[in-house]
Amino acid sequence: MPTYKIAIVGAGPAGYFTAQAFQKAQTEDLSFAIDMIERLPTPWGLVRSGVAPDHPKIKTVSKVFEKIAKEPNFRLFANVELGKDVSLKDLRDQYDVVVLAMGAPKGRKLGIPGEKLKNSLSAAEFVPWYNAHPDYVDVEVDLSSETAVVIGAGNVAMDVARILAIDPAELDPTDVAEHALAKLKQSNIRTVIICGRRGPEHAAFTAPELRDLPKLENTDVFIDPKQIEEAIKHIEVMDEVEKDLRNNIEAMKAIAEHEKKGVARKLEIKFLSTPIEIKGNGKVEEVVFQKNKVQNGKVVSANDIFSIKTGLVVTAIGYDSVEYPGVTIESGRVRNIAGHVEHNVYAVGWAKRGPTGVIGTNKSDSNDVVDLIIENLKEPKTSEGITALLKSGHEVIDQTAWEKINASEVISGEIVGKPRLKVASKADLLRVSRKPAI
Ligand code: NAP
Repeated sequence: MPTYKIAIVGAGPAGYFTAQAFQKAQTEDLSFAIDMIERLPTPWGLVRSGVAPDHPKIKTVSKVFEKIAKEPNFRLFANVELGKDVSLKDLRDQYDVVVLAMGAPKGRKLGIPGEKLKNSLSAAEFVPWYNAHPDYVDVEVDLSSETAVVIGAGNVAMDVARILAIDPAELDPTDVAEHALAKLKQSNIRTVIICGRRGPEHAAFTAPELRDLPKLENTDVFIDPKQIEEAIKHIEVMDEVEKDLRNNIEAMKAIAEHEKKGVARKLEIKFLSTPIEIKGNGKVEEVVFQKNKVQNGKVVSANDIFSIKTGLVVTAIGYDSVEYPGVTIESGRVRNIAGHVEHNVYAVGWAKRGPTGVIGTNKSDSNDVVDLIIENLKEPKTSEGITALLKSGHEVIDQTAWEKINASEVISGEIVGKPRLKVASKADLLRVSRKPAI
């Protein structure tokens, strides 16, 4: 029976769902040996370093990942970096198929004056900071001002704003990074303003996430009811209104109308505001916006400006893929056609589609790419795979080593009433992985 060697680069949701699709496609006449290669010492990608700590339900998908990893045809090679420890060319030569599932980790830039001021951060730094990503432990975050501004009207902006706006005690029973929780507990921020450049009818938020906002216990959430009324007028004249849009507007109307608790912590969503400059003497002090209006279905300038005094700006306006030797990036994603990159190289997830879609989107997407891969399979290679590529002595975190980290974090968490206490530094993760099994 032919066994094909598959290398999946990136241990996030798209990578695991691809491995699962290969596992499900096995027959008596076809089998796959899957090696998952991951740069960090830990797998799970955005489920570990992206999903907000106060959304634990979303993280339960990690159980599915661990089930996939337990299959006999799966091996984890974490702490192995593409472009440094192994090259794409070597992987291509050693494997029958290489699947790029590295996501799109680079935060997009606004490109406005003042964006580089101190405390003007990208969500691509701020989110992994509060999620204990080893590369972002040392991000300097100053929470001493009363107001924070979050740019962008998507779910990442909402996550960032919520983490800044809720009472940090609500994060006690979560797996938020210890260093972030300590900072958040000393935070002076009481007002967080999300600014979207277009109207409520154009927002990228999703309804379930919006519906959660009025349920926040210690934070009042505001949307100007007039902006919602205007948006409703605009969608009434549309030929067809998608269900998702209708649900979003309903959820935002509910936020605008719900009774406020009169608490000190506030989260406001402000629409039709394009940031044009971040001002400050050495660090962020003010963001200047151009006001917009919707005219004949188009967003245009209202020829007016306003500004918000703030000490922190977090930009959450989407992500880009990063370059690797041999990988061409186009419009924020790896250049590909329906997942096929070139020769025996394919892409899945955000690397394939760009930074859109929730975790579940990756499942059907990965299935489609695996179908295409199987159609294109040739004779299996008789190569050695990754063991031929890694330098002798390279410290790989395999599934057993990762399970030690996982168990250690979960046990430390149990003691203090959290799902896990994340180990944040790479050196500590490696140290824990070397401990005898518990
Ligand atoms: P997103 O959904 O694409 O939203 C990006 C936002 O940034 C949009 O509102 C966009 O506005 C705005 N933007 C882009 N360029 C801008 C600029 N130059 N100036 C001002 N605003 C700008 O991206 P995301 O929030 O990063 O989320 C990525 C994906 O992850 C989405 O599919 C999201 O649903 C998913 N996600 C899901 C969850 C969850 O399920 N809980 C949590 C986090 C993320 P325009 O529309 O005007 O371009």
